[in-house]
Amino acid sequence: MGIYALTGGATGIGAAIKTQLRALGHEVIVVDLYEGDVCVDLADASGRQKAIDGIRALAPAGLDGFIPCAGLGPSVRPLSLISQVNYFAAVAVTEGVLDLLVRRKGSIVMISSNSAVMTAHDDYVKLLLADDEAAAGEMITSKDAHTAYAGSKHALSCWLRRNAPDYARQGVRINAVAPGIVNTPLSDKVLADKDLGQVMRDFGDSVPLGAIGQPDQIAEVVCFLLSDKASFMSGAIVFVDGGHDAMLRPDQF
Ligand code: NAD
Repeated sequence: MGIYALTGGATGIGAAIKTQLRALGHEVIVVDLYEGDVCVDLADASGRQKAIDGIRALAPAGLDGFIPCAGLGPSVRPLSLISQVNYFAAVAVTEGVLDLLVRRKGSIVMISSNSAVMTAHDDYVKLLLADDEAAAGEMITSKDAHTAYAGSKHALSCWLRRNAPDYARQGVRINAVAPGIVNTPLSDKVLADKDLGQVMRDFGDSVPLGAIGQPDQIAEVVCFLLSDKASFMSGAIVFVDGGHDAMLRPDQF
């Protein structure tokens, strides 16, 4: 059986991934704010380094998989926290454990979003990809919450695709799921937000498959991408969104 590390495993999609991997007999190291094997705040560089050190201490012989799942939704303030956790922490911890994955020819599954394609490849996305955390944090104060969130996932998806070929040559597959609206504490907070709630409710009501997603439905695809059943997949971003992306962008693929 394998050994996996996961950020954001306390609630929502991460908790479902943790439960499914453990049910398959795997060991799962959870990194999260409070309920984790490694308890850290991934919003800043010192927390990210503690996460890397904690994973390395618990998996000295290497990892079969890594899932940087911790994330914050568009209701969070300040907006800079969204890029700090969704983009910079995901990238930093992935890079910090890469050699552990190389050792066991492991695989990575990132958690993007179907909102990633709803924003432009703009100056904010470029600052994220240029690894300029301070400037990105400053720029996002002048933008809206949707741009902050979607931009963080757009940049993460581009980062993944830029790095996938090199990672593959090292024997490590990296793919992502792009969930649509899923029933988690994150989406509950957005639904309760006075500015964002109605748009989110309308979005949920328009899912072609007729309902918002459940964390287990995302976790099933994550576990597939981590497994040998996906052994020829690298650089893929799989929409798991009840058909929303196809509905919104039928001629773009
Ligand atoms: P969630 O709030 O249930 O889970 C997020 C997890 O991240 C929590 O366990 C939380 O404690 C952890 N976390 C947040 N900030 C942290 C920090 N600073 N340091 C350490 N851990 C931190 O939400 P979720 O919906 O399960 O989100 C999981 C991932 O799925 C996120 O990356 C999110 O962007 C993505 N996603 C969610 C949806 C949705 O509709 N719920 C849609 C698309 C993508």
